[in-house]
Amino acid sequence: MGRARREAGKVQFLIAGPDLWIAAASAYNVVIDVSAKRVQHGCRDFLGQARERRLCKHVAALLLAMDREVALEVLRSLTVPYGEWHLEVIAARGFKN
Ligand SMILES: [Zn+2]
Repeated sequence: MGRARREAGKVQFLIAGPDLWIAAASAYNVVIDVSAKRVQHGCRDFLGQARERRLCKHVAALLLAMDREVALEVLRSLTVPYGEWHLEVIAARGFKN
């Protein structure tokens, strides 16, 4: 988690919860929709890891930077195998459109 912790200081929130979190972590967009149980992100690591439900450093950084109770709830349900969360790949950098 060392890398993610360094990234967490650089997270910029566009929308900061409590249900919808939209942030840029090192210029990569991360969307966490808690009520829809959806994570949208698009870095190369995420592409490879989404299937295995492992989180890249950007998503981890957002979880570290966001409200702790919400993050724990997200992590708990995300790591359940075959849980209800959807991991969706989106364009890496789209907020400036
Ligand atoms: Zn990432």
